[in-house]
Amino acid sequence: MTFEVVATDGAARAGVLRTAHGDVPTPAFMPVGTKGSVKSLHPDEVREAGAHILLGNTYHLHFRPGEELIAELGGLHAFMGWDGPILTDSGGFQVFSLRDTLLAVDDGGVTFRSVYDGDAARFTPELAAGIQVRLGSDIAMCLDVCPPAGVAREELEQAVRLTSAWAARQREAPRAPGQLVFGITQGGSDRELRARSVEEVARLGFDGYALGGLSVGEPRPEMVDAVEWAAPLLPADRPRYFMGIGDPDGILDVIARGIDMFDCVLPTRMGRTGTALTSHGRLNLKNARFARDPRPLDERCGCRACARFSRAYIRHLVNQQELLGLRLLSLHNLRFLADVTLGARAAIESGRLADFILEMRQRMAADDR
Ligand SMILES: [Zn+2]
Repeated sequence: MTFEVVATDGAARAGVLRTAHGDVPTPAFMPVGTKGSVKSLHPDEVREAGAHILLGNTYHLHFRPGEELIAELGGLHAFMGWDGPILTDSGGFQVFSLRDTLLAVDDGGVTFRSVYDGDAARFTPELAAGIQVRLGSDIAMCLDVCPPAGVAREELEQAVRLTSAWAARQREAPRAPGQLVFGITQGGSDRELRARSVEEVARLGFDGYALGGLSVGEPRPEMVDAVEWAAPLLPADRPRYFMGIGDPDGILDVIARGIDMFDCVLPTRMGRTGTALTSHGRLNLKNARFARDPRPLDERCGCRACARFSRAYIRHLVNQQELLGLRLLSLHNLRFLADVTLGARAAIESGRLADFILEMRQRMAADDR
């Protein structure tokens, strides 16, 4: 049994996902280690910030430094010095979100120009599986076709068709020892296409299932509504992964609707632009009102940044582009999202998720920072 639901509260679930490198309590936020690192942070700091599982990007690692080199050095865990669980995406999201590098999509795979050198490259389901075998991730994702929001229905339908066909091929491809493989469903927020995608992909039998093709530019209420009706379509005894959400409000939205896993670059990207996510909402440290503010970023937070440093000091670091500033903000943001997720898990276990979400939202909206 790789996934166990230990408590439910409405549609929300608290569970445990078992992987070759350890158990992951769910709901789980996965920090993104795009190029084999969570930007600027030591793996021990990432763990200390409350992360149980990291996401690695197949696209980037394939081109630099290449999966053969990583395999030669013992796989991604050894290479990046992280011995906890790792989920790798398939590279499909990068290929399809960099629309102007896309050359051709056909039944066999997708051809595109690499962002590194502009050379033509091709991903197929078999290659996506092979790269993830050599990276040795605990969870491999299927190669999918992920169109942006607002495309014509024919394009959405084509994405569903190819995603199912590719999933069937990847299902048969070799996997690393102990590696779980997750299928991805497409269909945007079109109910009929999403239901078709779920049916076709779930029939193949994967270890977990993702809602792909949401949070790709559609209005937030449309996304939340889609998660509400689409999540229950996914098999209840497998983990459900929402790809690409990482703001506190969004996390609470998808947890409440039955999602178990999610990822986003937001906490570290925000950190690098001088923004802190806090229980009082977002703080832009560049704002002059923090110049003499002796308080920590968030008095409810126990991270290394909040334990020792003032907003005034971190603002100074940000303004002077001192590396410590962006490190502290990234560390804090990761911890904050881990705490939100952990808080939601505890609330699900005690059957008071709705109250927890209401309290969080009221605090984040109350302008008392
Ligand atoms: Zn903190």
